[in-house]
Amino acid sequence: MKTAVFVSPHLDDVALSCGGLVHRLTRQGTGVMIVTIFTGEVGSPPASPLIEHIWGLTPLPDWIDRRRIEDFESCRLLGATPLHLAFLDAPFRTHGRNDTPLYPTGESLFSQPSEVDQILLEAIANRLANLKATESDFYAPLGLGSHVDHILVRNACEQVFSPDLTYYEDYPYVENIATLGQTVQYPTGAMYIEVLNPTDLNAKIASVLCYETQIPLLFGNRDEAAHRLRRWMLDTGGERYVRLAPTTICA
Ligand SMILES: [Zn+2]
Repeated sequence: MKTAVFVSPHLDDVALSCGGLVHRLTRQGTGVMIVTIFTGEVGSPPASPLIEHIWGLTPLPDWIDRRRIEDFESCRLLGATPLHLAFLDAPFRTHGRNDTPLYPTGESLFSQPSEVDQILLEAIANRLANLKATESDFYAPLGLGSHVDHILVRNACEQVFSPDLTYYEDYPYVENIATLGQTVQYPTGAMYIEVLNPTDLNAKIASVLCYETQIPLLFGNRDEAAHRLRRWMLDTGGERYVRLAPTTICA
């Protein structure tokens, strides 16, 4: 059976960017796996302005557990199988020997990955290589918005899956690429739009609303989340993808 593998940097990116396509595929009988890379246990986080911004002043030791539970429910609504790889989210990574954070500020989080993360990139690529199968189509983030984790995942996917790779636009970053001073390149390939019918659009919105810990950071509240997702799909015509090699899955 034909299957599709969507690679998600964090626990929400594929629902936000590709939830409509995932739901359409599973509804039509294609097996979909959503592989989320950065779901590692936080442990003792380094002190940094970035973590204060994410958590407020109260450490949340069960942060990743909560997010994983949200993802299980989101994947259930989309009909997809979740796989969580235990790599550490960028704000929690340190230089190694000491506890100095690699990405202490929002500015550093949206930049080129640290050289220290080259080892991490290889480790991610090795894990993804285990998933490579001839009967799957693979989807990776473009890295729009330049979040270091999204760039690392794009690079790892290119290393493992190219040229049989389809890219998705990272939502909600793609909403603001003009004002963010976009530096990430779109690859040369065929761009196409996955037009969502009401069933798939509603499933996408419901799957995004499962991520309750992320809604305040990304949208403010649930109503605004649903409104912005609907408006973006109207503005763009649907979810946009760039395909490197011809495949048959979305024909
Ligand atoms: Zn992300």
